[in-house]
Amino acid sequence: MAHFNPVTPELVEELKRVMSPKQVKTDEDYLVAYQTDEEGNSHYFSKPEVVVFPESTEQVVEIVKLANKYLVPITPRSAGSGVACGAIPVYHGIVVELERMNKILKLDPDNMYAVCQTGVITGDLQREAARHGLLYAGDPSSADSSQIGGNVANNAGGNKAVKYGTTRHQVYSLKVVTPTGEVVEAGSRLKKSSTGLCLEQLYAGSEGTLGIITEVTVKLYPQAPYVFNMVCVFKTDDEAFALPNKILKAGIDPTSIEFMDNEALVMTCKFLDMKMPHVDEGCDYVIVTVESFNEEESDRKMELLCDLAENNGSIDEFEADKRIWTLRKQFAEAARDVDKMFQTEDFVVPLDKIPDITKQIPELREKYGLYCVTVAHIGDGNIHVLPLNKEGLSPEEWFNKIKAFHRDLFPRVYALGGKMSGEHGIGFKKLDEFAKCTPAPELHVIKAIKKALDPNNIMNPGKLVDMTGDFVQE
Ligand SMILES: Cc1cc2nc3c(=O)[nH]c(=O)nc-3n(C[C@H](O)[C@H](O)[C@H](O)COP(=O)(O)OP(=O)(O)OC[C@H]3O[C@@H](n4cnc5c(N)ncnc54)[C@H](O)[C@@H]3O)c2cc1C
Repeated sequence: MAHFNPVTPELVEELKRVMSPKQVKTDEDYLVAYQTDEEGNSHYFSKPEVVVFPESTEQVVEIVKLANKYLVPITPRSAGSGVACGAIPVYHGIVVELERMNKILKLDPDNMYAVCQTGVITGDLQREAARHGLLYAGDPSSADSSQIGGNVANNAGGNKAVKYGTTRHQVYSLKVVTPTGEVVEAGSRLKKSSTGLCLEQLYAGSEGTLGIITEVTVKLYPQAPYVFNMVCVFKTDDEAFALPNKILKAGIDPTSIEFMDNEALVMTCKFLDMKMPHVDEGCDYVIVTVESFNEEESDRKMELLCDLAENNGSIDEFEADKRIWTLRKQFAEAARDVDKMFQTEDFVVPLDKIPDITKQIPELREKYGLYCVTVAHIGDGNIHVLPLNKEGLSPEEWFNKIKAFHRDLFPRVYALGGKMSGEHGIGFKKLDEFAKCTPAPELHVIKAIKKALDPNNIMNPGKLVDMTGDFVQE
């Protein structure tokens, strides 16, 4: 049983007092708009009782203190582009929308770092860094909408993770409002530290359950002047999936290695009204991006890559311009165009196990009668199989079908040393599956951390781990 209180007019008045009336919304339009994030299945929708728009860390502190005083749950929210129902207020209460904290406070080109408020749109940071000849390497396909705080909270991956790692690897330090309303500066602008616990990495990927991130200091890198995107074309998935390990072993040091199966290519080309080579022939693409600091090195790597691909069964390799990334990044929008309830799996396995898991997908498709398209950050072992509800099942029927699919799929992933999410997180959507697949001692540690830091369980309850049994009102 949840132990929370409803939001009262008294609490709404106090919220208006610590911010301004304009920053506190209880109109039905707002409540409906915030009942979901990127999730399209109404099974998961849940309305907040109030939505607040803080403009400073100090205001976030006051909101958190009030939530504890009134025992009302808080759901932190950035752009709401998450696909694990992480920003859905499952116990209602207060949604804290951070989009107004959207300033890049400092960008130091000489020392290659930037200090951002949490609500800075990731693409804006990328563009600002590029203006200084620098790269911000966090690059989820949602970069033009998602925000830096949301990226850190979910440890977003994306398209440059092979070379630069995921969002957590971009972070020097974080400012976090704890669930009890203190402000913690976690981490610092250091290359190394053996001083205490690595709290910034505990917060990264904690999905808003351990506090609200209000400021992020990120690393920047020099922009490499020579970049090529090579598309290697394969007739079978197996040949394509065997390529990443070989590319990495050859020292090509790619920025990304992405995969799109033929069904994904056909769907996205149709959505974008784009014609691409070999798509009509039923082929898959492996897209490899390589950055270099001199032309000679770039040419050498291109040649080596083409040789490797051909030796591995590629029937053609062609250099693509930036539009190849439009094709790759618009894939989710193309799926939404077919089915707004589409499900995005994002399991991750060791690179050498990619063929072992992907060859089981046709059997699972057959067993559950699922139509799926597949794209993958295959350089990271992170596979997005997307079941699409082409039969027009009801939200409830679709929910049940996906749950049955998960119960079958995830044990297979874990048996190969994988995990159910490589970048999207657990959120509310995979809460049950996470509890089932995670060994009891690990789950115990996670719950103990949560309980110690959030004694009233007000911070994004119902996400990542179910604490309701641990917080029964006395
Ligand atoms: C078209 C599309 C493409 C995508 N591509 C990728 C991709 O390539 N890689 C990838 O990893 N993801 C991808 N995603 C998923 C999503 O964009 C990422 O998970 C992103 O990091 C979410 O950021 P957001 O700002 O929208 O956060 P939200 O969805 O608002 O929140 C995500 C989670 O973080 C918590 N949270 C948000 N802000 C804070 C904060 N300041 N402090 C504490 N907790 C907070 C929320 O409570 C929630 O649990 C994609 C989504 C779409 C729609």
